[in-house]
Amino acid sequence: MSTPKTTKEPAPAQPASALASVNPATGDVIAVHSVQTPAEVNAAVERAREAAATWRDLGFDERKKYLLRWVTYLLDHAEQFSDLIHAENGKPRDDAYLELVLAVEHVAWAAKHAKKALAPKKVKPGVLMANFSAVVEQRPLGVVGVIGPWNYPVYTPMGSIAYALAAGNAVVFKPSEYTTTVGNYLADSFRLANPGLRDNIFTTVNGYGETGAALVKSGVDKIAFTGSTATGKRIMATAAESLTPVLLECGGKDAAIVAADADVKAAADAIAFGAMANSGQTCVGVERVYVEKAVADEFIREIRTIISGLTPGEGPDSSYGPMTMPAQIDIVRKHIADAIEHGGTAIVGGLDSVKERFIEPVVIVDADESSAAVQEETFGPTLTIRTVKSVSEAIRLANASKYGLASTVYSKEQGLEIARQLRAGATSINSVLGFAAIPALPFGGVGESGIGRIHGEPGLKEFTRPHAIASQRFALPGMALLSFKRSKMTTVIVKKAMKVLHGRYK
Ligand code: NAD
Repeated sequence: MSTPKTTKEPAPAQPASALASVNPATGDVIAVHSVQTPAEVNAAVERAREAAATWRDLGFDERKKYLLRWVTYLLDHAEQFSDLIHAENGKPRDDAYLELVLAVEHVAWAAKHAKKALAPKKVKPGVLMANFSAVVEQRPLGVVGVIGPWNYPVYTPMGSIAYALAAGNAVVFKPSEYTTTVGNYLADSFRLANPGLRDNIFTTVNGYGETGAALVKSGVDKIAFTGSTATGKRIMATAAESLTPVLLECGGKDAAIVAADADVKAAADAIAFGAMANSGQTCVGVERVYVEKAVADEFIREIRTIISGLTPGEGPDSSYGPMTMPAQIDIVRKHIADAIEHGGTAIVGGLDSVKERFIEPVVIVDADESSAAVQEETFGPTLTIRTVKSVSEAIRLANASKYGLASTVYSKEQGLEIARQLRAGATSINSVLGFAAIPALPFGGVGESGIGRIHGEPGLKEFTRPHAIASQRFALPGMALLSFKRSKMTTVIVKKAMKVLHGRYK
């Protein structure tokens, strides 16, 4: 495993063949990685393809053993790994630890449930084919290319990596250029946890967008991407050239609804966390709140008090860390300015909250629904709040978005009823982010938030292809449907049978 190094030197100018990983809180260089060329990416995929056959042939029980050993290895090294996540991504150490624990839960779940979820399934052959048996078998795809973001550099790609591995695929992972060291630690840890296992079952290729694009073109059997919607669209267009299937986990603009019957204090507490934790750099973070008039004053008072007390920083007691990707800082600034220009009032912070590396929390009420802060993904420690007349108005506004990733509902009596009307891949009722910590629940979005699902049984199936097998058990005299020996009598029998079976739905 490459040992991360920390220097106080400014990052040296890197040739295009190298990538310097930087601590976003300090600017210190953590490690330098070489960037893989398209030819090197292709070679990595070829090596993974050879390893994939071995891994597939091990079967579910053996793979489970290796994956669970990895789980224990990750827990045994959790302190060291959390330090690295903290250093490279910037989030507080305890948040890094929590991210790791949640990722580990997913590996364990995928390892333990793959056999049952992907077991061959007998299906009824139907009357016309009564002399057949029919079964659907789920086959691994081969090599899955995973492309990840930096905001949850372990948890997020693990939703694809663990499930693809458990289903019997090899994985080539291109971590974000902002969290390359974490991504490589992850792949190294799989190898170190399983010294008896052949190499190249789970490896990384490092670099910027070009390296990711090379992975898309490399002939992998599926691309599982997590990142921005804009990149997801580019990946889908590239993948279309070779009909490579894609799973896209993209951006969001998640809304929270606080109904008049909500526990307002609990709602304010949870929504403050959902909006501001990880500096708001959470795909399923709360970015907009719609609160019913009857409780709006109380909710706004509560959340303002909580959020005003948050302190970003790099110390152990900081509420959240720096912005991981410098380019995002300007987007956050623009959204705040746009919201204020479009009728919004900042009740916590404002434009001055945007500092060089850290952004202090910002809460804006009543910004126009058309403003960027309400429509576009901000991905910073900001929150907009709008008071609404009714739950149905809240639902309408929550759904008026091109995104549809996740959502939050606070209501004592109508939580499920409201959730069912939301256009989103997931909803957490009377909590935030609950769905993300339950491995059996599928995760993914609708609209511009993406295509496909990670986690749970659907997440395992994403990394398999169904193979339909029909076996003729015996020949049915006079019923040679699929033969030139078919007689006139066969058609007469089929016509009669169809009338009896389906001729009565009037
Ligand atoms: P990004 O789109 O900038 O980059 C994601 C990855 O794609 C990186 O590894 C990058 O190098 C790679 N990439 C860039 N251009 C590419 C190309 N042309 N071809 C192939 N790969 C390419 O996203 P980001 O800034 O790293 O992550 C933040 C975004 O991720 C936010 O929009 C957030 O909502 C989203 N996200 C979504 C989920 C989810 O599960 N839906 C989870 C986490 C983050």
